[in-house]
Amino acid sequence: MADYDAIVIGAGNGGLTSSCALAQTGLRVLLLERHNIPGGCGTSFCRGPFEFEVALHQLSGLGRPEKPGPLRMTFDSLGVTDDLEFVEAPDLYQVAMPDGFRLPLKTEIPQMIEAMQQKFPSEKEAIKDFFDLMGQFANDMMGAFIFRDPAPSREKYPALYTYALRDVESVLNERFKDPLLKAVFAAYWGYLGVPPCRLSFAYLAMLFFQYSEFKPFHVKGGSQAMSNAIFNKFLTYGGEARFSCGAKKIIVEKGEVKAVITEEGDEITTNYVVSNASQAYTYIHMIDPEHVPENVISEVKSRNVAVSAFTMFIGYDCEPEELGITESMNFLLSDTDFSAERVINNMWNVGIRDDFMAFSCYDIADPDFSPPGKCQTNTVTLKYGEPWLNIDPHKYHDAKFRCADEMLHRMEQIYPDLRKHIEEIEVATPLTFMRYLGHSGGSIYGYEQLIKDSMFFQPKRDSPIKGLYFAGGWAGDCGFEPTLNSGKAVAKSIARQLGK
Ligand SMILES: Cc1cc2nc3c(=O)[nH]c(=O)nc-3n(C[C@H](O)[C@H](O)[C@H](O)COP(=O)(O)OP(=O)(O)OC[C@H]3O[C@@H](n4cnc5c(N)ncnc54)[C@H](O)[C@@H]3O)c2cc1C
Repeated sequence: MADYDAIVIGAGNGGLTSSCALAQTGLRVLLLERHNIPGGCGTSFCRGPFEFEVALHQLSGLGRPEKPGPLRMTFDSLGVTDDLEFVEAPDLYQVAMPDGFRLPLKTEIPQMIEAMQQKFPSEKEAIKDFFDLMGQFANDMMGAFIFRDPAPSREKYPALYTYALRDVESVLNERFKDPLLKAVFAAYWGYLGVPPCRLSFAYLAMLFFQYSEFKPFHVKGGSQAMSNAIFNKFLTYGGEARFSCGAKKIIVEKGEVKAVITEEGDEITTNYVVSNASQAYTYIHMIDPEHVPENVISEVKSRNVAVSAFTMFIGYDCEPEELGITESMNFLLSDTDFSAERVINNMWNVGIRDDFMAFSCYDIADPDFSPPGKCQTNTVTLKYGEPWLNIDPHKYHDAKFRCADEMLHRMEQIYPDLRKHIEEIEVATPLTFMRYLGHSGGSIYGYEQLIKDSMFFQPKRDSPIKGLYFAGGWAGDCGFEPTLNSGKAVAKSIARQLGK
């Protein structure tokens, strides 16, 4: 008999929910994590009196208890909902520009429409029509995919068939005139890391649908509390884990998984492996090449590694109001140019000038998030890892400091008093994400979700190697909700195979 029924490699969202769901069915599961804490991106770290959230800005798909979304259903089925406290965010997002433009959006669609129509009265009808289109698109997606229509057609799902493979920029250009209005709608591109001209309209429509239908949430204690709750549940179901223990090799014989070798050199036998690492890393570095079918390598090579991030975590000696922060989620724009040329140049550039930024203050929705009388912000801009790898190591700290200063300068254009209230500050570059996640390029979104690799054409979660599965952002859409749900789905497939 094998040492374990299944071994899960990586304790990111996908690894945590897959290991928890597998252990819940009574299987003997071992979770291996290279870092010393569970969560992957879903972690926190402490500096002075602050516990900083690493990644989670807005949790999607949770829904209120009386109207649960897919993620709440996953948590319910794993038995972790009661171990967590969720805080609903009152606002969707605010777009803010240095010239004083502010547009805060609430989470109800009629309020969003009203706020946009007030700012852009000449495009009143177009705004209403666009929300109708996004609503229709989301309904079509539900009918065709969620309810798995066996005979979908253009007649039944016209919005889906017309817009699924259209890019965000062209749809916005077709519908609106004002570049600022287009920039307000396009802002969610930052959550996908793909410029609007390469991003499927499906993502924009589904983000607006998800956040208005199921509302954006935070977790009390941050995403680390969520990761810990899933991990603790895994232990109560009898699961075992090793931290600071990477998986080095997956042993395959005659096309079937046989064992995992850890970085410590232990060989542990199993017939099922769930990898939360990327397919590229798993197939190329962990499995001997003679066992990897060629078509798998070509499939992996056809995808691009997504962008990483430059992130600034700041703790302040005052409440958010004193800094002029009124919304929990903000997109800071320097102007309305979101062309591919601008966005891609910025992502490849070691420097922060007119970059698009996501700026969160968790204390708005949850006043207890930071110690009394204090607050914290998390500012992210998207950067590819490669230019950071090319920096002479002796000049890395200078580059990091310069970017941090430029980022602060941009934030001060919107919130002028920030700098004098800083108590703690920490910065993560793409190299930080490379080190902590072990992903190539420090990717925070798996493979790039270009239209050709969008939700309609995603890599399979299983593999031609019997017993090998994938969970997490490299095997589907990125983000907390999709990756948490992916682990549950993979566990279900394995449990079914094992007659559980
Ligand atoms: C700065 C930032 C902001 C974000 N904001 C949001 C947001 O607001 N909303 C949202 O929905 N999403 C957001 N995301 C994205 C989201 O966090 C990720 O998509 C998601 O957490 C990825 O989960 P995953 O399952 O793919 O695992 P990952 O988080 O990628 O974790 C993989 C784990 O596997 C481990 N591992 C890798 N290789 C090995 C090995 N060989 N052996 C053992 N362990 C290994 C790693 O150490 C890591 O713990 C953000 C991410 C970042 C970084």
